[in-house]
Amino acid sequence: MPIENKFPGKDISNDDIKTKFPLCAKNKKNKKTFKINNVLFGGKKIPIMAGPNMVESLKLVDDCAKIFKKNKIDFLRGGAFKPLTFPYRSKKYCETREKGIEWLKIVKEKYNIPVITEVMEEKFLPLICEVSDILQIGSRNMQNFPFLTVCAKTQKPIMLKRHYGASLRDLLGAAEYLLIEGNHKILLCERGITVPHTHKETSRFLLDIQAIPALKEITHLPVIVDPSHASFWSPWVPSLAKAAIAAGADGLMMEVHPDPKNAAVDSLQPLSFNEFQKLLPELKKVAKSVNRKI
Ligand code: PEP
Ligand code: MN
Repeated sequence: MPIENKFPGKDISNDDIKTKFPLCAKNKKNKKTFKINNVLFGGKKIPIMAGPNMVESLKLVDDCAKIFKKNKIDFLRGGAFKPLTFPYRSKKYCETREKGIEWLKIVKEKYNIPVITEVMEEKFLPLICEVSDILQIGSRNMQNFPFLTVCAKTQKPIMLKRHYGASLRDLLGAAEYLLIEGNHKILLCERGITVPHTHKETSRFLLDIQAIPALKEITHLPVIVDPSHASFWSPWVPSLAKAAIAAGADGLMMEVHPDPKNAAVDSLQPLSFNEFQKLLPELKKVAKSVNRKI
């Protein structure tokens, strides 16, 4: 489909694509697919990243990895350094930091499963780079430009989460900061945007499903969708995950926890092991219907 001078309803023009984010732009020169730990991104396959919001204990990540390995899940996710909204910490609601990274390392080696975890501070980059196969830059750091630059310079694959208040233009501008460092293994992640004030009672965030085809029209970068953060409510996650695949998502990040009610952080959003394992065949069916595979 020819790209009109301005995308309908968006603040992105063809000029922007050429001058503001030429490395993000979809064209013959820019690389379309790449592998991270033998998992191909941007191709037919839709990789899945799953795990708890927070790496709470070694047992928690071990239990998750065991189930994921059985179900051929591509990446184990889990935050050890967390952008927690409020600073007051109980013993349970508390980042596990270096200890959490160590637990991820143990489990990664035991089960031979790649890992993705969030990085929030430059000083912990060397430690996290040693263990994590993908650096997750959280929505809150999306436009922390000096931080984006130091992360990109490590040449580690990066998943950049869209800030809930960021336009697609903002997101692509941030991705361009990563690409300009010669790091081409960049994933974008739609994780829900701020709900319009008319719908404030309905949901904390709103999955911008339209961002998927919109981004894919403009950029060659794979678009990952996180329906767990987008909905903040596990009963909606299966529908949103299926919708994301149908809309062209190139990967999913989902929160999964063996005991969701007792998850230390965001306990309303993870799927239980049973719910997750029930969802997988449904996702496969949807993927097949759009000529993709899980
Ligand atoms: C997360 O994935 O753990 C997370 C904090 O996500 P976001 O940055 O999208 O809020
Ligand atoms: Mn969260």
